[in-house]
Formats: sequence, C-alpha cells, structure tokens
Amino acid sequence: MGALIETWTRVVCRHRYVPGGAVRVRALLADALHRMVTALTATQFDAKLGYRVGFELVTSGVTAPQAFGGTVTLLSQQLIPQLGIGHPEAHTRLAALLGHLVIGFTEASRNVVQAGAEAISRAERASWREEQTLLNRRLQHAALHDRLTGLPNQSQLRTKVAELLDGTGRLGVCLVNLDRFTSVNDSLGRDTGDQLLRAWARRLRLLADRNGFFLAHLGGDEFAVVVEDTTGPDDMVKVVDLVLRTVHEPFGFGGHLLSVTASAGVVERDTGQHPVELLQAAHITLGWAKSSSRGGWTAFDTERHAASLEQHALTAAMPRALHRGEFTLAYQPLIRLADRRLVGVEALARWHSREHGPVSPDRFIPLAEHTGLMGPLGRYLLERACEQAGVWRRRGHPEFVMSVNLSVAQLGFDGLAATVAAILERTGLPACQLQLEVTETALANGVDGELDALRAIAMQGVRLAIDDFGTGYSCLASLADLPVQVVKLAPGFLVGIGESGASHSNDVILPALVKLTHDLGLTVIAEGVETARQVRVLADLNCDLGQGFYLGRPRANRHISRMLGNVGNGGTRQP
Ligand code: C2E
Ligand code: CA
Ligand code: CA
Repeated sequence: MGALIETWTRVVCRHRYVPGGAVRVRALLADALHRMVTALTATQFDAKLGYRVGFELVTSGVTAPQAFGGTVTLLSQQLIPQLGIGHPEAHTRLAALLGHLVIGFTEASRNVVQAGAEAISRAERASWREEQTLLNRRLQHAALHDRLTGLPNQSQLRTKVAELLDGTGRLGVCLVNLDRFTSVNDSLGRDTGDQLLRAWARRLRLLADRNGFFLAHLGGDEFAVVVEDTTGPDDMVKVVDLVLRTVHEPFGFGGHLLSVTASAGVVERDTGQHPVELLQAAHITLGWAKSSSRGGWTAFDTERHAASLEQHALTAAMPRALHRGEFTLAYQPLIRLADRRLVGVEALARWHSREHGPVSPDRFIPLAEHTGLMGPLGRYLLERACEQAGVWRRRGHPEFVMSVNLSVAQLGFDGLAATVAAILERTGLPACQLQLEVTETALANGVDGELDALRAIAMQGVRLAIDDFGTGYSCLASLADLPVQVVKLAPGFLVGIGESGASHSNDVILPALVKLTHDLGLTVIAEGVETARQVRVLADLNCDLGQGFYLGRPRANRHISRMLGNVGNGGTRQP
C-alpha cells in the first residue's frame, strides 16, 4: 500500500501547490486509500464513500483538476493489481467508487468556485468561529506553537491576522516554503529535513525579531511572515527580498553543506477583509510562485485569480454538462473544388453551458485534455458524428465524409482503435465514410503506442487526415511513413494568395505544397477559405477540397441536411 500512496501523493502534488505540502497530503491519501480498500472488500458495499473521498480531497486543498484526473487514472489502473485485491466484485465496486469520487470532487469544486468570494468564507467563517471558541477554551502552549520549531503555529497566525484586520492600518503577509523539500526528506532522511527546518526557522526568527515582523510556522516547510502598518504593496517587495535571502547561505550539518531555494507568495491589504480570505489569497499566490520559476516570489493579482476561478468553474461544470447533453456538434462543409460539390463535413464541438453560456472549443478542449475528460467527451462526440453520418447515409449519401477531430489526449488512451471500431459497428457507418483529423504536432510528438493506435485505425479503413499542416515542424516526406491519406493545410497558406500588387511568399509556397502532397499520393484540403479569389486559385492548383467561411460556416445538422437535399450521392453544388 505504501508504494501506491507514494505514487498517488506525487500525482496530487505535481501540478499545484497543496496547503501543508506532501507530508499532509500523504497522510490524507493514506487514510482515503485505507477506507477505499476496506469498502472494496466489505460484505456491505457502500459506493458513497467515493463521494466523501472526492469531496474531502477538494476541501483539503487538492483542487487542481489535473491532480484529480491523475487520481482517477491511477486508482482505476493500479489499486486492484497493486494491492492484490481478489474480491469477485472488486472491479465493479471500484468503478462505482470512482464514479462517486468524480461527483464528490465536482460538487466540492463547484462549492469552492461559487465561493470565489462568498461560499468558502461562509463555511470557513463558521469553522473559524468554532475554532475561536475552542482556542479560548484551551489556551495551552501546545495548541499554539509548532512542535518542531516552537514558533507560533497556524492558529496563532489566524488570530494575529484577525486582530490586525480588525484594526485601522494595512498589513502584508508573505508565505514562504522551500523548493523540493520533499526530495531533501527522501534523499537525506527525515532527520536531516527536520534539522534543515529548524536551522531555517532560526534565521527567519532573527530576521523577524530585528524588523518587528510576526513569524509563524504553518507545518511542513511553510512559514508566514506578517508585517503590520504597511503603506502599500511596494513595502512587501523589500520584506520578501529579506525573507528569500535567509536561504542564500547554504546550511551546514555534520560537515556537509546543503543549498536550497525558497519561493514566496505575497499579499498586501487594507483592513476590513476577512482573515480567511486574506490567508487563502496568500496560499493561492504561493501556488502561483511555485508553478512559475522556483526561488522567486509572486504578488496576488485579482484578475489572475478571477481567471483561474473561471477556468476552475468551467472544468468543474464539464462532467455534468456531458451528462446533460450540453455538448453538440456543428458541421462545416468540405467542398470539392473541381465541381463545387458538398462531399463531406468536419464535425466541430460546441458547448452551450447552462451556467456559462457558449464556450469556445479553443477553451474547453484544452481543459478537457488536462483533466482527463477528453476521453469520454471525444468518444461521445465521435459517436454523435457517426450517428449523424449514418442518418445522411440512409438518406442517399453513402459516400459523404464525416471528418472528426481526434485530440492528442485521446491518442494516449488504450483501446482507441477498438473504441472506433465499436462505434462504427454500433452506428452502422462504413469505415470509409469516417475521417479522423489529428494535428501535425500530435503526429510529430507521437510515441510508438500512439502511432500504433493510428495504424490500427487506418487498417480498419478509416481515413486519417493531418490537421493544421504547416503549423508544426514535420516535413512532408515523413508523412509517407504514417498512415495518413489527407493533408489539411493550415489557413496561413491562403493569406495573400492571388492578390494583385506585391507578390506574397505563399504564391510560391502554396503551389509547391499542393504539388508535393499530390506527388506523395495524398489528398489536399485547404482550410480557412474566405474569398472567391482564393477558391479560384486553389481550383487552378488542382487542390482537392476547400473548407472555410466562404464555402460554408459550421452549421447545425438540419442546415447540412437542407444543403444535401434528398438527392443521390455526390452532394449539391455550392457557391
Ligand atoms: P480546427 O480543427 O482547425 O477547426 C477549424 C476551426 O476553424 C473551427 O473553429 C472553424 O470554425 C474555424 N474556421 C473554419 N473556416 C474558417 C474560416 O474561413 N476563417 C476562420 N477564421 N476560421 C474558420 P472552432 O469550431 O472554433 O474550433 C476550433 C478548434 O477547436 C478546432 O480547430 C479544433 O482544434 C478544436 N476542436 C473543435 N471541435 C473539436 C472536437 O470535436 N474534438 C477535438 N479534439 N477538437 C475540437
Ligand atoms: Ca480539424
Ligand atoms: Ca484545422
């Protein structure tokens, strides 16, 4: 179980700074894992435990969607084999647990997000009040100081900040921790880690005493420096510089010198704010500092915070949106340039969110890719597209091409080829009517397994197109080794072509590209066709197909049905 906990901890801590660091996370995950294993083998199975675990992860500060995606992947693949769980229903139970975990995580995330300002503080205010009474009851040293360094702890920090915020002046908080402290613990042992923390605490205390700062040790390798009566954010620049200087000199133990760096997050505020919000802002800022360069610091930025809250909100809304059928497809015509006939469409994902309104695929696709939702979303969209192509097929268009985008994230998924085959089987669409678009970058960076999956798909008779060709670095000749039959030229190649006046480099590049692609036996589609002139030039170059606003915008299925009419194959003539 130890090894699995370690891997899980790494997965969770890799993406974003988590309050309390790896030590706290490890304890949290160990407890969660223990409960899940008990549930998997219990006589009475209760899947709702998964919900609680998902919920607890978020409330304990594990909010990065990637950490969550990684958690689901890790547990689904490794929990049963690694722990040798032999219960006959283990796999079904695990699936149910993880299903509830997704819901728990999503709901808790939504709470966190809606909080932006409000909900968190309300919940926390309540616990804050409880904590205050508790503290008053047992004003003992142990409750107020860190055991390792003897410095004031988190509770004292909260009380201190609350007092100052009740007053009249401004204040600043600098939260600091060591970079890669876990690796010090792992490679040199916990004792050395503790010694390092004590030595650093002594330096920080000296600094605080000299300057009249309040210093607290929040556990792990995290310290807070509070500065009273600041006059504005600039005051904290000097403070954070002093704080980070405390690690400039290496630390010496037993004849060895240990060099470390630290990162800091800084918040400077007026009074009148709630202490929970202020400390939360400091934590968020430290997280930003950690995710950019190590050994540096970052100041709180309201706009950045709002943007990340919104991203979080979208991410949290996605699984539900998928469930509710909020994702749909728009279809953009693919026009054969020789006779201007509609011969196929590209399916483009659309999301009209009940809460957020229309969200562009350029925003939600990357989010889905980062959170592990691209697998289910991609499968859903592919299935809808194939169903639609099946409908048009039955209405007399048996050669109409349905071109669907395949994300890099889907490529990495085991069993992609089998999924494609199953969808074709279920929807009754012949493989030759399906085309899958993979970006040039995905192909160029594809590892063997991913390219094998594409080869297996191509073997079924599905056509593969390389999307946005010309935006990456692959060379045309290398396409010969891949199972690609179609090249979609990026819109950039159409800029300036055929325009009178100064000649454009595309006047030379585009004909050469079309010719080379044809020489390799591939079909060319020009993307981003916006003018009649571009259509003429492309037709003169024998470019096979065109796609773009001039030839037809992405539209709902009924518009395409209307364009197709009920005539036989070959499509209808376009502008
Ligand atoms: P893409 O695959 O290159 O899709 C073409 C994009 O260019 C579409 O934007 C389309 O509306 C737009 N476009 C088409 N003709 C013109 C034109 O003449 N001028 C201009 N300026 N734009 C044109 P959209 O629908 O916003 O999609 C953006 C990107 O999101 C897509 O780029 C694709 O990378 C991704 N995407 C969309 N749907 C899916 C999907 O179902 N799965 C995956 N994996 N990615 C998708
Ligand atoms: Ca595409
Ligand atoms: Ca494209």
